[in-house]
Amino acid sequence: MQQEIIAAVRDAGVVGAGGAGFPTHIKLNAMVDTVIANGAECEPLLRAHQQVMAAESDKVVAGLAAVMLATGAGRGVIGLKRKYADAAAKLTAALEKLGDRRLELFFLPDFYPAGDEQVLVHEVTRRIVPEGGIPLNVGAVVANVETLVNVAGALAGKAVTGKYLTVTGEVAQPLTIKAPVGISVRAAIALAGGATVGDFAIIDGGPMMGKLVAPEAVVTKTTGGFIVLPRHHPVIAQKAASLKIIANRAKAACCNCRGCTDSCPRYLLGHGLEPHRIMQVIGGGLQDSAAVTRALLCSECGACEAYGCTMGLSPRRINAELKAQLAKAGVKNPHRAEITQARWERDYRRIPTKRLVARLGLEKYDRPAPLVTAGVAPAEVRLPLAQHIGAPACPVVRIGDQVAAGDLVAVIPQGAAVGANLHASIAGEIFAVEGFIGIRAGNRAGRDGQ
Ligand code: SF4
Ligand code: SF4
Repeated sequence: MQQEIIAAVRDAGVVGAGGAGFPTHIKLNAMVDTVIANGAECEPLLRAHQQVMAAESDKVVAGLAAVMLATGAGRGVIGLKRKYADAAAKLTAALEKLGDRRLELFFLPDFYPAGDEQVLVHEVTRRIVPEGGIPLNVGAVVANVETLVNVAGALAGKAVTGKYLTVTGEVAQPLTIKAPVGISVRAAIALAGGATVGDFAIIDGGPMMGKLVAPEAVVTKTTGGFIVLPRHHPVIAQKAASLKIIANRAKAACCNCRGCTDSCPRYLLGHGLEPHRIMQVIGGGLQDSAAVTRALLCSECGACEAYGCTMGLSPRRINAELKAQLAKAGVKNPHRAEITQARWERDYRRIPTKRLVARLGLEKYDRPAPLVTAGVAPAEVRLPLAQHIGAPACPVVRIGDQVAAGDLVAVIPQGAAVGANLHASIAGEIFAVEGFIGIRAGNRAGRDGQ
């Protein structure tokens, strides 16, 4: 049964919907005792996962049961916040319908980053993933709730062609939609009534971990939302600052107060990551290679920069740069400590979401983004061949081909250990195969009026 589920998930092109897009069929090829559905949605302003849990509760539960079957798990937990009342009610009904007492809801406190998978594993199981490890090391698999919906879809023969995402911030009508993969950011913002300010920037993802994106970029299988903010907003200014400015600020202003370390979720779990020591190295030119390589333990959650540091500094960006440089130099993570106990102060240092929203200056935008189910019919989509972890998908279509929604358009390259299939998200004609697959809606005869 495990291999049948894995094959269906692989064929359907399912990848982690809430993270970097790790192919789900690889994740399922493991034996664990616990599967955790991640419905925490801890990034401020985003609403997609709570809407998925409410709108597709039966599929979340079915997907969770399937992943338990594939991995041999005896416990299935859906982690969400109590404030997602509609989702909790619908999931409770779905669980009752299934009648399998091994599956349960788990209510998380409302803090950031409750959705970090290592934090989530600790909240649910009290186990601590070792330094540099993954949940599998402590007998758990974590899957985003939308990934589980896609697993349920895969078992019904449906490929991944759509993505739930929130469009919010300075837009006329914040909303959550299920968009065809490959529509442009501009088109998604237009669905929310367009931007309400002239000079704006767009974040792909949440305000904490999201990245600035151009209007021409497209929705992928991992997009969680777009946040439109005035270009002068502090969250945008921090993300737009060059690395040179970030490093100069660190040298000039870090007072080594260790506020960043005290707010770091990985440090609080007991890991040896101490961002204030890394800042000492950067700012003071100290030689401490152990401190520097501990940057490899950083999840880039941003708690240190948005909440811990009162000087406006960014240990997160410094760590991200160090990680990139260490990877380029071929340095592997040497820190592998097994941790049995979280730091005693952890319970007092979790970051309340409301306080974080206030600290980020986003209270004005902290509002509902209801699910709008009207179909989205774009004129064209562009499907990047690399929108998951692993080898880019290999096209199996040519310019001029006609495809239906759900048709396979690119496959995992032969011999690639990690990769994902790609499917047409709309019906139409292929107009480009060049790093992405472009599809124009309708067929040529219809477009030409013949
Ligand atoms: S919180 Fe800011 S000022 Fe304090 S040690 Fe960390 S980076 Fe330096
Ligand atoms: S971004 Fe900052 S708070 Fe988050 S894990 Fe890295 S050092 Fe810790």
